[in-house]
Amino acid sequence: MHNELRGSFQYMKALNRSIILNQIRQEEPISRAELAKKTSLTPPTVSNIVKELIESGFVLESKQGQSSGGRKPTMLVINSKNFYVIGLDVGPKYLRVVLTDLNGTVMNSFKKLIPSSLSNEDLLTFLIQAIREVMDHYKNELSKIIGIGIGMHGIVDVDQGLSLYAPTLRLQNVPIKSSLEKEFTIPVKVENDARVLALGESWFYNDTGHKNMITINVGRGIGAGIVINGNPFYGNNFIAGEVGHMIIDSDGIQCSCGNYGCLQTLATGPAMANKAIKEISNGRSSLLQKMTLNNSHNITGKLIYEAAIKGDELSKEVLKGAGIALGIGLTNIIHILNPERIVIGGGVSNAGDFVLGSVKETIAKRALTMAAKKTDIVISKSGEYGTAVGAVALIINENFSSDTLHFDTMNM
Ligand SMILES: [Zn+2]
Repeated sequence: MHNELRGSFQYMKALNRSIILNQIRQEEPISRAELAKKTSLTPPTVSNIVKELIESGFVLESKQGQSSGGRKPTMLVINSKNFYVIGLDVGPKYLRVVLTDLNGTVMNSFKKLIPSSLSNEDLLTFLIQAIREVMDHYKNELSKIIGIGIGMHGIVDVDQGLSLYAPTLRLQNVPIKSSLEKEFTIPVKVENDARVLALGESWFYNDTGHKNMITINVGRGIGAGIVINGNPFYGNNFIAGEVGHMIIDSDGIQCSCGNYGCLQTLATGPAMANKAIKEISNGRSSLLQKMTLNNSHNITGKLIYEAAIKGDELSKEVLKGAGIALGIGLTNIIHILNPERIVIGGGVSNAGDFVLGSVKETIAKRALTMAAKKTDIVISKSGEYGTAVGAVALIINENFSSDTLHFDTMNM
C-alpha cells in the first residue's frame, strides 16, 4: 500500500515535470507564473519542479523578462548546451552523424559511405567507429551526452531497437540498440528513418505547433513518417507508413514487391528516369539526350530536374506526372488520417515547384472537403542532415514527452 502510493506520487511528479519541460521548450523564455497559467498546475508545484530542473541542469534562469512596471519577472529557458545527443541516419548508401544540443542545434556533423557488402557485425562495428569518432571531439564533455538516436532505413522493431529488415543492405535482425548500449552505456533508441524525419520536423522545424503531421520521404523508395498527437505512429507490426506500395494504378507497371502500379513505380527518381527513357526510345526528343550524350541509361531524377530548369518539355512533363501520382497518394493519406500538414522530403524535394505544383493541384481537385483540399503541403527545410537531427529528437522526446516517462535513465 505504502509503495503503491509512493509509486503513484512519483509518477505524477514525473508527468508534471515533463509537462513543464515541454512548455518551457516551446515557449521559452517563460516565467513561473505563465507556466502555472499554461499548464494549470499550482504555483507551488511549478516552483518545486522548476527548482529540481534547475538543479539537474535542464533549465536556466534568465533575466530577460518584460514587466509592466514593478520588478522584472525571472524567465526560464532550456539549458540547451548542458546536454548533448548523438543522432545517426543509417541510409541504404550513406551514414550521416550529428551531435546536437537540447534544442537540436547541430554542433558536429559528417557522413560516410556504407560499404556495399557487409554482415550484421560489420554494420555494428561501422556504427560504433562513427560514434567513437564524434565522441573523440568531446572527450572532456562525455558525461553531457545523454543518448544516441538512430534513424534506420527499412523495418525496425522500436521496442527492441532491432533492424528487422534492411532491404538494400540485405540485412535482417541487427541488434543495434543492445549492441550500442553495451558499448557506450547510455540510452540508445532506434526508429525507422521516415518516422524519425517526421519526429524531427515536428520537434525542431515546426514553429506553428502541428501535432498531427506526415512526412513523406521520396528518394529511391517512398516512406512516410506519421506523427499523431506529437508521437510517431507504428501500426501493429511496425509497417505503418509503407506508402510506397500504395496502389495508384492497378493496370500500371510491375513493382519490385510484385504488385502493379504502386506509388513507388510512378514517383521516385528511378521511376521518373524509366519514364523519360521510355519516351525517348519512342522517338520523343529531349535535352536529356544531349546531357547524357545519347546514353539514356545515365538519366537520373536529378538530371531530369536540371533539364526541366533549362526548359526541357519532356522533363517538365515527367516531373508533373510524378507530382500527379504523389498527389493521388497524398489525397488517399489525407482521407485516411486528415493531417494538418504534410512535409515532402528526400531527393524529390530538390525538384521543388515542378513537383509540388502538380501535387497541390491534384489534391485540390480530388480531396473531399474544402478543408482537406487546403491541407498544408510543404517541402522539408531540414536538409541533408534532417533525418540525423530527427534521430536526436528520439532521445529528447523520450525525456521530455509526457507520454514516455523514463527519467530514471537520466540520473536525476
Ligand atoms: Zn510495390
